[in-house]
Amino acid sequence: MGWSQDCDQKVSREHFLSASVLSQLYGNEVMLQGVPWLASDEKKAFAINSLTANILCRRHNEALAPLDAMAGRFFSAVKWMHDDIFDKKTLSKRRRCSYLVEKN
Ligand SMILES: [Zn+2]
Repeated sequence: MGWSQDCDQKVSREHFLSASVLSQLYGNEVMLQGVPWLASDEKKAFAINSLTANILCRRHNEALAPLDAMAGRFFSAVKWMHDDIFDKKTLSKRRRCSYLVEKN
């Protein structure tokens, strides 16, 4: 965001990928392979909270935080729908609006 010439002097630690999205998809940790700090054939689990680097200044990091939170809520809704679709016991598998009947 340096191109904006509106950065804070302080740099803050930020996740490479949205922590809220990663935690919706994978829980507390992710399995990584092919990242620069591992051998090419090495696979290793990392806590999502540890996958940070000095990417953004504090101002831009804080400005993007609501977008990150919204992405987390969006992926939470998608995950809920996914889980619901494949769960045969949920209400969505039952006939919807069964209390509405056709008018004679
Ligand atoms: Zn910045």
